[in-house]
Amino acid sequence: MYDPLQLAREVERLVVEEKRRRYYRIPRPGDWYGGIATADCCGCCLRCVFCWSGAPRDNPSLGRLYSPEEVFRELEACARRFNYGKLRVSGNEPTLGKAHLLALLELVEKSPFTFILETNGMLLDRSYARDLSGFRNLHVRVSLKGTNPQEFSRLTGARPEAFELPLQALKNLLDEGVSCHPAVMLSFSPRQGVVELKRRLGEIDPSLPGRLEEEYVFLYPHVEERLRKAGIRPLTSYLPGKIPRQLR
Ligand code: SF4
Repeated sequence: MYDPLQLAREVERLVVEEKRRRYYRIPRPGDWYGGIATADCCGCCLRCVFCWSGAPRDNPSLGRLYSPEEVFRELEACARRFNYGKLRVSGNEPTLGKAHLLALLELVEKSPFTFILETNGMLLDRSYARDLSGFRNLHVRVSLKGTNPQEFSRLTGARPEAFELPLQALKNLLDEGVSCHPAVMLSFSPRQGVVELKRRLGEIDPSLPGRLEEEYVFLYPHVEERLRKAGIRPLTSYLPGKIPRQLR
């Protein structure tokens, strides 16, 4: 079992150089969130068995380093071309390389766009949340990998105690006044797990259970291969061409 914070430090050495961050695909248009321009970065501090990111997670030295200005320029051009109002960094974990992310958010702040920060929440301690609190054009989506510590550990291979980090991240963000909501991967969870998670979220803030977004596995070939190797079968999953509209 690994410690996600230790892994984050190791991966950052491969994907961050001062304010530059490594990306493997910029930009990508898409209809998530009603239309969003996406830059796909390299490297993550988790190892989820259902991860759709292939080589750029396991071999994060792919792609090349981009400055915040380059990333913003590409995202802005894509958004204007497709008439989108939202931008994001996806593909892996965008909170690695804090100086890069904050510089990118400063550029977004001066634009008419909203930035959706999709994160696993491992790194959002109080200090990081405070740094994010200055941005008005920002919404943070904290994605929980399972509904309890044991499920989290089974799905990510990380030590179970790290399940608490994204819950603490939600509290930190709310305490610092940052717009946010929780999401959770439910493909592997019995119903009782969701009930227990909602109880935990309600202890953090009464509004969180009602704002919990459900996530499910989409069976891309490399995702099926990861699951097969891990010997884990989802209880609920969708084929890529048959993703329900409410999950987009
Ligand atoms: S947090 Fe996201 S990018 Fe990282 S391993 Fe899990 S699914 Fe993949």
